[in-house]
Amino acid sequence: MTNIQPLTDTQGRVVRDLRISVTDRCNLRCVYCMPAEGMAWLPKDDLLTYEEIARFARVCLDLGVTGIRLTGGEPTVRADLPVLVRMLNALKPGLDLSITTNGLKLVAMAEDLRDAGLKRVNVSLDTLDPKRFHQIARRDRFHEVIAGLEAARRVGFAPIKVNAVLMRGFNEDEALPLARWGRDQGYEVRFIEWMPLDFQHTWSREKLVPAAEILAQIAAEFPLEPTRGTDPSAPATLYSYQDGRGRVGVIASVTRPFCGHCDRIRLTADGQIRTCLFSLKEYDFRNAMRGGASDGEIAALLHAAVWRKEPGHLINSPFFKQPERGMSAIGG
Ligand code: SF4
Repeated sequence: MTNIQPLTDTQGRVVRDLRISVTDRCNLRCVYCMPAEGMAWLPKDDLLTYEEIARFARVCLDLGVTGIRLTGGEPTVRADLPVLVRMLNALKPGLDLSITTNGLKLVAMAEDLRDAGLKRVNVSLDTLDPKRFHQIARRDRFHEVIAGLEAARRVGFAPIKVNAVLMRGFNEDEALPLARWGRDQGYEVRFIEWMPLDFQHTWSREKLVPAAEILAQIAAEFPLEPTRGTDPSAPATLYSYQDGRGRVGVIASVTRPFCGHCDRIRLTADGQIRTCLFSLKEYDFRNAMRGGASDGEIAALLHAAVWRKEPGHLINSPFFKQPERGMSAIGG
């Protein structure tokens, strides 16, 4: 490859984090993400093969990417996911390789994923009430998620992070119960502000529970202090419990955007690069790779795409336009 300069944009940000969506499918139907019925899935032939994903990842690692996160849809519903994990892990010793999952398949898969070289696990869970879980996810599978978390812990993943989205009218009263449970179980709970990326376009500012409100509820029972020395490019702002029993985080994507430190790009399951969650433009690397582009040509296309990376999202501006792709087809 000729140009192995880091991937930089016009704002001086450097891309270090590659999120790879391996499928747009999911075994849940969370109300803030997908409609109950009628999703049109990507055709199988459009999905990048594991070989194509690994090749793209290798080029990115040569260009300075240091971490890869596997996402979906739900990544564990793609067949033989540990095979891909093993291929990616072989690209670079010590690669920070992680996954965001709903946890349903971890009982069956946690050990294989660990053995294949996965380092970290984030599990999405928005409620501790099984009935409410059923309402939010439209599937009665709460206990499988809990069992999946326990399986991840049993095979040695640490720390285990739990991602929760709170919405008014659904689960806004769960900040404290989830925080308390995280302390008891040793999970790092992170509350993510709901973003306008749902297929049904039902997002509204009124339904969003701001990070400041969540933190105030938690701090009223468990005093918090900002955690020192955290990575500024990490989306979560972390707080330590003053009694020393762990940490809690907020990802205030809407009310306190952190785009100025963003170091992420996303590869969709059908091989498109998105330089921002809210990109209105995509760059087609599937056709480039299938058309015979060399590694150097892939690198050049990537440099050109990252150079045009959006300064940030426009959710708080009157010019905001929701992208056509929903979150499940982008990857978190
Ligand atoms: S909105 Fe876009 S620029 Fe901002 S942090 Fe997310 S991906 Fe990065």
